[in-house]
Amino acid sequence: MTIEIYQGDITELAIDAIVNAANETLLGGGGVDGAIHRAAGPGLLAECSVLPQVRPGVRCPTGEARITAGHRLPARHVIHTVGPVWHGGEVGEPALLASCYRNALRLADEHDLSSIAFPAISCGVYGYPIEQAVPLAVAEVRAWLIGHPQARIVFACFGDAMTQRYRVELQASAPAP
Ligand code: ADP
Repeated sequence: MTIEIYQGDITELAIDAIVNAANETLLGGGGVDGAIHRAAGPGLLAECSVLPQVRPGVRCPTGEARITAGHRLPARHVIHTVGPVWHGGEVGEPALLASCYRNALRLADEHDLSSIAFPAISCGVYGYPIEQAVPLAVAEVRAWLIGHPQARIVFACFGDAMTQRYRVELQASAPAP
């Protein structure tokens, strides 16, 4: 089992699945979502738009995940998840962010995908503090990896500060040899 840090554009990774930090419509947006839709081409939007709506306009409620093909991406699949908007941390944000990681990894399991790349879900426009999101992401991934010794998880980091934060967290949380 491996955890890697990759600094750069998640859309360039040739891997079983990249995770998209989407919004509840699943019809594209800014940030990593926009980059993924641009790189995947119109087939991704077409596939997302026919996913069932659980409420008007909502194809994936916050904390849940959905899977599609990768279309023109080098990744075979996209796992779309919707992180919480940060409202100060007292309205369930940590539990929702944890469920993004768990539900994305559960879908990976169900589709026999063993190499998965995550962006820093909610850490862009949704405003989740990096100091709190990164330890949570690493803890969820480490817990899942215990039952998946063959898996490979990549944390895709945009920028030096994010890369450094993940590096520190991975070292601090490494199991004793
Ligand atoms: P959210 O709405 O969940 O906050 P964003 O897309 O705004 O999602 O940001 C999530 C994280 O993804 C941020 O750390 C942002 O810098 C990063 N990011 C943006 N574009 C890319 C990309 N192409 N590859 C990897 N990470 C990206």
